[in-house]
Amino acid sequence: MRPSPPRLSRLVAELKAIEESGVFTNFGPVNARLEQSLTEKLFGGKGGCLTVNNATTGLMLAIREAALERKSEGYALMPSFTFAATAHAAVWAGLTPLFCDIDPLTWNSSAESEDLLLETFKGDIACIVPYGCFGNALDLNRYQRLAREQQIGVVIDAAASLGTLNSDGTAFGEGFPHAIVYSMHATKTFSTFEGGIVHCGDEARLDRLRSMANFGFNVERETKMPGLNAKLSEIGALLGLAKLEEFDSVSAHRGQLADAYRRQLPNFTFQKMVGRRIVYQFMPLLLPAPRRRHQVLDQLSKVGIEARHYFSPHLHEHPYFSSFPAAPLTETKRVAEQVLSLPMSDQMTLSDLGFVAQSLKSIMGDDFE
Ligand SMILES: *Cc1c(COP(=O)(O)O)cnc(C)c1O
Repeated sequence: MRPSPPRLSRLVAELKAIEESGVFTNFGPVNARLEQSLTEKLFGGKGGCLTVNNATTGLMLAIREAALERKSEGYALMPSFTFAATAHAAVWAGLTPLFCDIDPLTWNSSAESEDLLLETFKGDIACIVPYGCFGNALDLNRYQRLAREQQIGVVIDAAASLGTLNSDGTAFGEGFPHAIVYSMHATKTFSTFEGGIVHCGDEARLDRLRSMANFGFNVERETKMPGLNAKLSEIGALLGLAKLEEFDSVSAHRGQLADAYRRQLPNFTFQKMVGRRIVYQFMPLLLPAPRRRHQVLDQLSKVGIEARHYFSPHLHEHPYFSSFPAAPLTETKRVAEQVLSLPMSDQMTLSDLGFVAQSLKSIMGDDFE
């Protein structure tokens, strides 16, 4: 990943305007423009957006808010195959992570595994926090139904899903009545410096979240609910607006790169897409068993290619999270053992990609025979 946030050095006039306005944060005018533009351009004009200073605080607020409605303690059901932020946010929101397995093809939470935990821990689950794996879309109708039938809160970790399209071409998450949280971190596809977005189709919920993001203040500046400072600065918002301008071309380029990876590495297993498009942050794939990922990483590094292995170890393997309860994690283990994340960036050319694909193929050599 090569972060490519907008260049502040090209935004001198806009920076001067912020200085002259005397408003630097607290949902100022640049932030208001960003929230409005995000809703119009990325969410089909549906619902609304609340900016936050990063997606982790967005998740903390959203999980706390979702749990408030039902019970303020209990479990937060989430996949073990996700980033540490998802589980940390649940802990900061006063809940206990409870890990489920993933689907073998989409790598999203497995519905069977979630159902098993919902049954086993009946009454003790405050919130379910599915993660759209590596930007994948999710079956949001399922979670809306679970919220209703099981009386639980729902928060979607969509940190890597800005730009993701459903099968019908609509934006993933648009108008969803529960909180859905996206990241604008430097390494994400929608790259700024730090920042996040909570999108929601329910205005009352979004108002509560906005108040929680500002110390729980109401209009009289009395604290009526739990809160923290999760506000995005005006410069953060300016970066968001500038990224929005170029986001169509970023998405088109990365879409092309993802297609090329899939075409040029036909013997590898790629993630099954739930919707029509994922704007990948990096390109995940599975190495064929038997596993020899360390060697592959070393050999790639020798020819100047940096690869990673998100999310291995998966959360339940991390010392801090290992004592929390989990369902059998068979598919999580398998995918985590075999996963490899290949480079992707806005600057990467198809010829760079050809070199990566060719190098990986020659390193794997006979493994496919
Ligand atoms: C990046 C990421 C986050 C955290 O986003 P920040 O904006 O860096 O706080 C949370 N969850 C997942 C799955 C992520 O990939």
